[in-house]
Amino acid sequence: MIADHIRTLSFAIADGIQPGNNDRNYVLRRILRRAVRYGRTLGFKEPFFYKLVDVLADTMGDIFPEIRARKKQVQETIQREEEAFNKTLDTGIELFGEAVKNYRTKEAAWNAMRNPDAADLGHSPAYSRSPDDSKEFQAIDANQVTGVFAFKLYDTYGFPLDLTELMARERGLTVDREGFEKLMEEQRTRARAAQKKEVISLSQIETTTPTKFIGYENLEVQAKVLEVVSLKDKTAVILDTSACYAEMGGQVGDTGELTGSGQLWRVVNTQKSGNTWLHFIEEAGARPSRSQFGASRDEHSVGGTPTDAGGTPALPIPGNVITLTVDLDRRNAIQRHHTVTHLLHWALHEVASQDASQKGSFVGPDKLTFDFNSAPLTPAQIADIEKLVNERIVENADVSWTEVPHAEVKNRKDVMQFFGDKYGDTVRVVQIGGAAHKLDGYSMELCGGTHTRATGEIGLFRIIGENAIAAGVRRIEAVAGLTAFDAMKSDRELIRAVAGKINSPIHELEKKVAALLDHQKELEKSLKAAIQRNAAQTASWLLTRATEANGVPLITQNFPDSDGDYLQAVVDALKGRFQGVVVLGGAANGSVALAASVSPEFTAKVQAGKIIQQIAPIIGGKGGGKPDNARGGGKDASKLEEALVKARSLV
Ligand SMILES: [Zn+2]
Repeated sequence: MIADHIRTLSFAIADGIQPGNNDRNYVLRRILRRAVRYGRTLGFKEPFFYKLVDVLADTMGDIFPEIRARKKQVQETIQREEEAFNKTLDTGIELFGEAVKNYRTKEAAWNAMRNPDAADLGHSPAYSRSPDDSKEFQAIDANQVTGVFAFKLYDTYGFPLDLTELMARERGLTVDREGFEKLMEEQRTRARAAQKKEVISLSQIETTTPTKFIGYENLEVQAKVLEVVSLKDKTAVILDTSACYAEMGGQVGDTGELTGSGQLWRVVNTQKSGNTWLHFIEEAGARPSRSQFGASRDEHSVGGTPTDAGGTPALPIPGNVITLTVDLDRRNAIQRHHTVTHLLHWALHEVASQDASQKGSFVGPDKLTFDFNSAPLTPAQIADIEKLVNERIVENADVSWTEVPHAEVKNRKDVMQFFGDKYGDTVRVVQIGGAAHKLDGYSMELCGGTHTRATGEIGLFRIIGENAIAAGVRRIEAVAGLTAFDAMKSDRELIRAVAGKINSPIHELEKKVAALLDHQKELEKSLKAAIQRNAAQTASWLLTRATEANGVPLITQNFPDSDGDYLQAVVDALKGRFQGVVVLGGAANGSVALAASVSPEFTAKVQAGKIIQQIAPIIGGKGGGKPDNARGGGKDASKLEEALVKARSLV
């Protein structure tokens, strides 16, 4: 089984898929944790899985060379995952060990009391077997792990019953399976009872307790579930405390995970209703927690019997304490974009105008946009802003924030604020540069968002667009950090691809493209000359085929495989050599062309524009022009002869 898993995992990681919390990444993580858990039952305590990659690379490297090429990366990824998961397991195992130790100590004391000769415990307080009132529950009783403890190991630390039984067996203990099942059933009943309420509007949410936001400093928190509500087709969990930033002031809401009761819910967005945080969860996506095992059928197929037939709670249960974890990478990307928005705002004032006032902004993980009142920026100004921001980034100045009474900073011109915006009595000032909290930075803004600790964290900054979104309002679109790196990388790949196409070293690319364009111009020139020579010959031939209609000299001719430009060249070549009416047709590249001319002597009688107007519909098209020259086009080449016959009748 382990061999199977190591193969699947290694190939997937070599292919560029990382274990994670979403979709196929999550599948990988589960495969790995399942194997680690299995390894535990075989006695592996330290990360071991990653060591097997060597063997795999040796045996499969010929069939699958990527595994050899990326062996080191695959090993590191697997080792990192193993270590993280082992930590979770160890916490539970430690707890189990302590419980056994406590039990043995008390057991010894109890035995000693019953047989005073066995040990001198005369001065000890009296021990009684039960009830143990020093703890809220008893972990082990009469050589049996209690149902309560087995359930706690399952619910809080994710130990499936079979693993608990294995650990108990090793110590000569049994497990109260019945008690465990009873608690599972109670959990399920509570879950069923905790039906979420249908809420039509945000105002109907019952919870009025403001959510305590601790997300400036923390990215994980144990929080109590207060309410689970349904808003249209979405489900939101309300907690007493949150580490997730709720969408505000242009900064998007955080995503993350809720874990508890052996379940994991993806938090797909966080929003605010008044001072209550709403954690929107992906309900259909509720699945066994990644940091806990059990709950899923296929996982139970490993070394044990199902402990969870019948389902875990579909939704978090009000009253329960669950763990909320913010998606770290995404939050960091958002923070880079937020802090750099402040730098951009500052640089804009330096380069463009102090009057370029902010009209709005968006701060997300993939980009930022910044709207402001201004005339269009020149390319030189945009380059200056970009440079200035990157210079401030490498200085790695401190970013700090301070809460102060609004009155204290209300009239300070160096603290950016939206006049007319309603602020509370206390405001938060985010400061870049200067001494932390002294309000002496070069950039200071009233802002509730989350930020990097120093400008250096932002990494690279690039402006990717500047354009108008309304009269007098411009929008800068920019990227920072790894997103900017990715943009840079795709630029470089594009340049490489272009250089490869024209077979040029990159440093000679510009010269080579200029040479190609020159060459193309020359080719076009000689092509045009060739067409003209050819058209002149054709014109001479046409002169021999001129007829007369209604007393007017007439040339009509169908040229298959000729386009409108060629027809026009022939018409031009006939000018001055033929007095009368010329109507030519041709078809090339799926389109049909018509060209007509009438020499000045006859334009009073018949006009080129009118001829084309009347015959173009025959070929399913339209056209027109002046009395002496006109062109038209259409689609149906099979009707070209018919159109030319019609032209003769019009003269
Ligand atoms: Zn801000």
